[in-house]
Amino acid sequence: MARTIEPDCRQCRREGRKLFLKGERCLTKKCAMERRPVIPGQHGASRKRVTEYGLQLREKQKVKRMYGILERQFEKYFDDASRAQGATGETMLSLIERRLDNVVYRMGIGASRAEARQIVNHGHICVNGKRVSIASYRVKPGDEITVKENKQELEMFKDLKGMKIVMPKWLEFNSETLTGKILANPTREDIDSDIKEQLIVELYSR
Ligand code: SF4
Repeated sequence: MARTIEPDCRQCRREGRKLFLKGERCLTKKCAMERRPVIPGQHGASRKRVTEYGLQLREKQKVKRMYGILERQFEKYFDDASRAQGATGETMLSLIERRLDNVVYRMGIGASRAEARQIVNHGHICVNGKRVSIASYRVKPGDEITVKENKQELEMFKDLKGMKIVMPKWLEFNSETLTGKILANPTREDIDSDIKEQLIVELYSR
């Protein structure tokens, strides 16, 4: 599977904000954004001027990196959103948020989206009782997400049992049974408020 080869922390430094790509480490003092929050490269610290195009491009890169999506896939989300009803930027974010790897991450089954994606790719997750190993699988309201029954005793899932996990309101998760449900489609307020999706729309509308 294609993926970006740029180190995680370098991606955060490039975007100038924490993207939370490394799970627990992101919440500690070891986080590179705590220790060295400057753009990587020889002239990183002195780069200042950003054009309008630069701002739009950075916003797109930020979202791609947050969710671990490559360019072609990201364009596809934009195309799907522009064909749907409603504000294109918001719809695009909602579609991305509904990826199975993101849902697994939001339910706390993976410490980062990358870990959640690996859990899905390894076939540990079922949707409505059927194993789904496609990270980009799009969930819909009413879907039931479970950790496969014969995998629930794996160390990484055992630790999760009984844990209290704060859930966005469009999701439900029972950490005893490792079963969750999609209650609704995510709305804009359920998604990172720091994203300026309008800049991405403007970029693709050039
Ligand atoms: Fe980003 Fe996490 Fe690395 Fe901090 S530790 S720079 S938030 S990936």
